[in-house]
Amino acid sequence: MNKAIFIDRDGTINKDSGYTHKLEDLEFEDNAIEGLKLIKEKLPFYKIIIITNQAGIAKGHYDENAFHSFMDHLLEVLERKGIGIEDYYFCPHHEKGLGDYKKACDCRKPNPGMILKAIKDHDIDTSKSYMIGDKWADVKAGDNAELRSILVMTGDKGNDIENKVESAFIAKDLKDAIEYVVRDKN
Ligand SMILES: [Mg+2]
Ligand SMILES: [Zn+2]
Repeated sequence: MNKAIFIDRDGTINKDSGYTHKLEDLEFEDNAIEGLKLIKEKLPFYKIIIITNQAGIAKGHYDENAFHSFMDHLLEVLERKGIGIEDYYFCPHHEKGLGDYKKACDCRKPNPGMILKAIKDHDIDTSKSYMIGDKWADVKAGDNAELRSILVMTGDKGNDIENKVESAFIAKDLKDAIEYVVRDKN
């Protein structure tokens, strides 16, 4: 089995400019690159998998093609820095979305659908894997998938208290979160 660090995208890796999708809006969160590099350095057997809610698609702010173009750009920039991302999963749905995207799905975090699919696709050992994000919905999705979860105080800084989980570790940023994982796994 494999080990993974599942990471939210907006507000955790890149700054969330609000429905982020334009290539020129790609800007990294504080210590995000340092955190990802630390995974490669200290946790080289961990796969990095991005798990992202993209309700902007459901709401018509941008389409799936624009989302994938942004992802291609993000992954290319990271690759150039020596940071390989194994895979990414996105939820394009929202309860107040348009057309086929309007639904109460099981993939929008805090639901664990995307993570469960990734666990199956990549044969992930949940007992050794982590979920990291800037919203309690990320933490709750991780808990729902039986991962150990970490909230980072970048981006949304856990503003969605309706999803609050008592047991989570709270980190300053992605680098701090990875330092916690390095300590926790030993
Ligand atoms: Mg986020
Ligand atoms: Zn969904």
